[in-house]
Amino acid sequence: MAERLFVAVAVPAEVRARLDDALAGLRERWPTLRWTRPEGWHLTLAFVGDAEEDRAQAVSDAAAEAAAETGPFEVALTGALGTFGQRVLWAGVAAPEGLTTLAGRTRASLATRGVDVDDRPFSAHLTLARAPGRGRLPRSSSDWQGPTSRWWVTEVRVMRSVPAAGGPRYEARSVHPLTVDA
Ligand code: ATP
Ligand code: MG
Repeated sequence: MAERLFVAVAVPAEVRARLDDALAGLRERWPTLRWTRPEGWHLTLAFVGDAEEDRAQAVSDAAAEAAAETGPFEVALTGALGTFGQRVLWAGVAAPEGLTTLAGRTRASLATRGVDVDDRPFSAHLTLARAPGRGRLPRSSSDWQGPTSRWWVTEVRVMRSVPAAGGPRYEARSVHPLTVDA
């Protein structure tokens, strides 16, 4: 049976907890948005979509290869919000070279194995909410200042998106440590 897959970097529990707390006011102000679950927060490196078993194996091989070429690096939340169009609200991520390089290697390794990914250019972000149905995001979110938490990225995950009431749940299908010495 096909699985819906993407490759991502996880956000540690402490960072999620701080960001979650900081969002309380916005969630109250904009209750009609579809807010993502903190437990599922992640940074998507490449979106694969539906994959049967062979393709899923190729995705995990590609993630392993990219991880084996890369050393641990730090990322940080910028503390600012951003949007994609009027549909997606996200928390900014300072994307130092490490993250962009890892995304590039992941996509290159997937391409080598003939796995197509969504071809939107990589853009480091953490999706917080989406506009409901045909709705739009509210304007004016510029006064929000969130935490600027930092963390070390030490692994890449192949994630499975599983449909569930209230929005999909994400499960780690495989985990690949970054093994090059920094
Ligand atoms: P829903 O689609 O129900 O609103 P979702 O987008 O969180 O929820 P998925 O569509 O399974 O769930 O997506 C999993 C991850 O992949 C999310 O980070 C999502 O933003 C990202 N993603 C989904 N589709 C694409 C795409 N076409 N291109 C790039 N990233 C995508
Ligand atoms: Mg989606």
